[in-house]
Amino acid sequence: MAILEILKYPHTNLKKKVEKINIINNNIINITNSMIETMIHNNGIGLAAPQVNINKQIIVISINEKIKPLILINPIIILKKGITTNTEGCLSFPDVFVKVKRNKIIKVIFFDLNGKKNLFLADNLLSICIQHEIDHLNGITLYDKMSTLKKKLIQK
Ligand SMILES: [Zn+2]
Repeated sequence: MAILEILKYPHTNLKKKVEKINIINNNIINITNSMIETMIHNNGIGLAAPQVNINKQIIVISINEKIKPLILINPIIILKKGITTNTEGCLSFPDVFVKVKRNKIIKVIFFDLNGKKNLFLADNLLSICIQHEIDHLNGITLYDKMSTLKKKLIQK
């Protein structure tokens, strides 16, 4: 395991859509473990592979220190319900906070590190966090959620 460097805005690799994983091998397991270590080291609650310059659909989430971090490979949202607006931060945008409108409840399908398909329903912070990280896999960042004024400010 290793602590990886986190790409910061405006790195162009944050704007790329990343690839699905076909085979979960030792390399993928090592990357995932390093992502968890990197997230915890930086006091983050979520991290997506493109943020550490890895072109793969991997997300790690830890919104509760008492529970083992969640690992989502190739996640797909299959159901969205309700709307909620919250202030979000991102390890790729240090000291930037943006109000973002998202779905309150989502149902997500993903694979775990054993290659097992999982499905669960997430709400509140977990739901918001998963949506934020899936955005990263599609090259969408907090920058895309900012107002025009905020975009101008961040570019200065
Ligand atoms: Zn982020």
